[in-house]
Amino acid sequence: MKKLKAFLNGKFIEKKEKAIALEDRGFTFGDGLFEVLRTKNSHIFFFEDHLLRMKYSAEFLGIPFPYSFDYIKEMALELISLNKVNDGELYIELTRGTDLNREHRYPSEDMQPTFFMLAFPLRQIDPENWKHGATVFPYPDLRHRLCEHKTINLLPNVLAKNFAYAHGGYEALMYREDHMGKYVTEGGSSNYFIVKNGRVITPEIDNILPGITRAKVIKILKSHGIEVIERRVYLEEFLNADEVFLVSTVSKVMPVRKIADREFTAPGEITMTAMKLYGRLMEEEKGRH
Ligand code: PLP
Repeated sequence: MKKLKAFLNGKFIEKKEKAIALEDRGFTFGDGLFEVLRTKNSHIFFFEDHLLRMKYSAEFLGIPFPYSFDYIKEMALELISLNKVNDGELYIELTRGTDLNREHRYPSEDMQPTFFMLAFPLRQIDPENWKHGATVFPYPDLRHRLCEHKTINLLPNVLAKNFAYAHGGYEALMYREDHMGKYVTEGGSSNYFIVKNGRVITPEIDNILPGITRAKVIKILKSHGIEVIERRVYLEEFLNADEVFLVSTVSKVMPVRKIADREFTAPGEITMTAMKLYGRLMEEEKGRH
């Protein structure tokens, strides 16, 4: 059996080692952040974007960010190589660290954050999802007010995604409600777009995750001359859209064929353009480094 390695607080350890304290605040309070990045051989896609998002949120939450980006990148590449991962994912987690007292209040000084990284092969996703579109299911967004940060508090996302899986779907389509009705926020681990009359519309960043893929897709569509509007988008508009697609680091750009029983052409024309442009952007980025 190959001994898989992880990176923890400055050292490479065997993944099987029990190295994190039971009193780690990530474990007891969900007091931490994470990132998931795509890797290909010795390339990590959009590394700076992901790390900047994590660092910004760490500052917001008062969690010390322990290393320079250069050091993290060097260690991540070493980890990918040690685990012989070709097409893969890099998982990074940062928690506020170990606190033996298990009190909500954290000590203002002397907290050593916990920082670890895992590198593993890309999860298996049925390619039919890209070819003919994924099925998604509406589910209430049960989350808190910190959704612009990629925190490890993922219980509502876990419930939403598992509702979708239990019904044979790929992803949840989470919604909140206002006086006008249900509006879509995001997926359990993705952002959504619709196309209506040649224009692209996506939920604005209002207590949802500012996805790295979302930002890239908005930029490439705009520079391709396609109008992209960011605003509140109602579930009703999703159901009446010409095309729907979802985006994330792992799903890239994925057409949506069904929202529960409502069926769409998938992939539609603009979705196909987005898929092509995003694929090209990844190739270009890999070529530059
Ligand atoms: N929204 C949520 C809630 C997520 O967890 C994720 C990624 O895991 C995304 C959106 C997509 O973000 P990104 O494109 O940065 O992977």
